[in-house]
Amino acid sequence: LSVPQLEEARRALDAPLFADLAGDMAVSFEFFPPKNEKMEETLWSSIRTLEPLGPRFVSVTYGAGGSTRERTHATVARIQRETPMAAAAHLTCVEATREEIDAVANEYWAAGVRHIVALRGDSPTPGTPYATHPGGYENAADLVAGLRKLHPFEISVAAYPERHPDSPCDQSDIDNLKRKIDAGANRAITQFFFSPETYFRFRDRAVAAGVDAEIVPGILPVMSVAQVRKFAGQCGASIPDWMDRLFEGLDDHPAARQLVSATIAAELCRKLYAGGVREFHFYTLNRAELAYAICHLLGVRPKAVAQAEAA
Ligand code: FAD
Repeated sequence: LSVPQLEEARRALDAPLFADLAGDMAVSFEFFPPKNEKMEETLWSSIRTLEPLGPRFVSVTYGAGGSTRERTHATVARIQRETPMAAAAHLTCVEATREEIDAVANEYWAAGVRHIVALRGDSPTPGTPYATHPGGYENAADLVAGLRKLHPFEISVAAYPERHPDSPCDQSDIDNLKRKIDAGANRAITQFFFSPETYFRFRDRAVAAGVDAEIVPGILPVMSVAQVRKFAGQCGASIPDWMDRLFEGLDDHPAARQLVSATIAAELCRKLYAGGVREFHFYTLNRAELAYAICHLLGVRPKAVAQAEAA
């Protein structure tokens, strides 16, 4: 075994069993805006299922080129209006001037939304390099600085434990994260990853570079390796070989796939917990069951039940 493998094995041994976890975690959930009525029903049923877990916030993504602008806004505003949860709106710099983006941010503020996930976004034509819109924000750090001038938003930004594909080297990516935090972001949320060691190394490098904000791991419960492979191809995340083996033969067994998926994600969270992580962000893909099951394993319980138990 190599030194990193040994380190990881040791960390795994140190990890408490699920039943020993203190439930002292803060969780957040990410959704995407629905495209039709059926998807809207699924989304809202998921939101209502996860709501009792008392997430720190729930966020809603923004489509490439602002393609989901109205739907993102409507979903975020409804969460803010109709639930006790704090809603966070993802916002990108793609194909919009600073004035247009500022106008969207002002609308959020007026709707009571106090949290923005500030992103650069990607080129609307897949496979072509990103180009700053004339008169637009240049990158996420620039957007964070712009938002800071508008309102005292809580701001989250993206981080990449396996390096962003446009970054020439790890250090340049960490420097970029530091610029975003220095511009006024409150926390980073990571792209998904499957090895705890990948996260720990990244966090160590970020801390060494002076990043003092929380780096919240983004957890993607895998329901289909093919789907995750597609996501990973776009964002530079790697998929370990064991993932294929674990899902082999489960194509016609969706319930078994869910159990396997929850086990992998919960095991990752348990190891992260052993390494000091207390905040987790779940990419729900608008389905509640997996995130709910993983939170349960981690000791996160519906608030009313947890309060009654404590009493
Ligand atoms: P930036 O932080 O601006 O970085 C982009 C690249 O440019 C990096 O490689 C960085 O190192 C480099 N760079 C930036 N500034 C400099 C500089 N001054 N010098 C040198 N290099 C520089 N996309 C969506 O379209 N909608 C969403 O809702 C969405 N939500 C996301 C949520 C999370 C948690 C994450 C992790 C990603 C999300 N994305 C979303 C994807 C994101 O938009 C893409 O990964 C995009 O390619 C980069 O966005 P960023 O905010 O990380 O960009």
